[in-house]
Amino acid sequence: MSSNYTIPPRPQKRALVTGAAGFLGSNLVDRLLAEGHEVIGLDNYYTGRKANIAHLANNPHFEMVRHDIRETYLAEVDEIYHLACPASPPFYQNNAIATTKICFLGTLNVLGMAKRTGAKLLVASTSEVYGDPEQHPQTESYVGAVNPIGPRACYDEGKRVAETLCFDYKRQHDTTIKVVRIFNTYGPRMNADDGRVVSNFIVQALQNQDITIYGDGEQTRSFCYVDDMINGFRAFMDADDSVMGPINMGNPGEFTVKELAEKVIAMTGSSSKLTFKELPADDPKQRRPDITRAKELLDWQPTIKLDQGLVKTIEFFKGVLAQQAA
Ligand code: UDP
Repeated sequence: MSSNYTIPPRPQKRALVTGAAGFLGSNLVDRLLAEGHEVIGLDNYYTGRKANIAHLANNPHFEMVRHDIRETYLAEVDEIYHLACPASPPFYQNNAIATTKICFLGTLNVLGMAKRTGAKLLVASTSEVYGDPEQHPQTESYVGAVNPIGPRACYDEGKRVAETLCFDYKRQHDTTIKVVRIFNTYGPRMNADDGRVVSNFIVQALQNQDITIYGDGEQTRSFCYVDDMINGFRAFMDADDSVMGPINMGNPGEFTVKELAEKVIAMTGSSSKLTFKELPADDPKQRRPDITRAKELLDWQPTIKLDQGLVKTIEFFKGVLAQQAA
């Protein structure tokens, strides 16, 4: 029997985002929906928060699933963005074995899905694969200096083996992989309590509390605003399948932690004072991405300067603190 029913045209693309309730995940979901894609989000809410995706509850193009990516999951999608993993040192060290399992099993499971469905897979790796680097700035060909038994190893080595799995799936199964090494990123929807330097300093400054500097504050980081990072993810995913990375993404502007503290105090008009605490073990002394590869292969580079990004992030945390006070 013939039917008059016509299958409606498919939306632009179907994407799966693991860690969709997290800082980067929720910002990426917003971008994908704005571009007209259908999106499935996964999160186990270990560090992700429902508040980050609450505004999407009635969006017919978005579906949120509570799922821990250490368990297998299968969906027919065109693109997978694998971001699920606690990324803040206090959080990933809180249950270190779980962190290693998320890095290994989580990546194995999304690779299995990509192999089976033919989806393209972008995997969030990290500048932590370089450890406490002896090469500065860090290029992708630098193999790193990681302590395999230190407190950061669950994350650093976890992400290193995640990269290994990606490239072995490429070699053995020709899976389309895209490995991005994310350097420190900040912006709205960071968790106020997750212990990262930008969120800590802004929240402390807005409350006129002491700014906690670990060590002497002379260690450096490079801070990338979230919108720039999401642009990078999209450019990478849309690039030719032969562009597989690893590709560094971050803002090459380099600041000492003390400079960041002084900037935040000035921008918030805070009366906070600096207080110096013990430097955590294996805390990298300097970090700055060499983004030549991203520029050449993706025509991508950050456009938002630290001062501009901090203005938006300070506004976000003012809102968070006002809500907490209400
Ligand atoms: N840091 C600090 N005070 C804080 C939080 C962090 O001085 O309240 C330092 C931390 O020791 C590190 C840098 O800031 O040198 C960046 O820390 P974060 O946890 O944000 O990221 P990561 O160490 O992973 O780059």
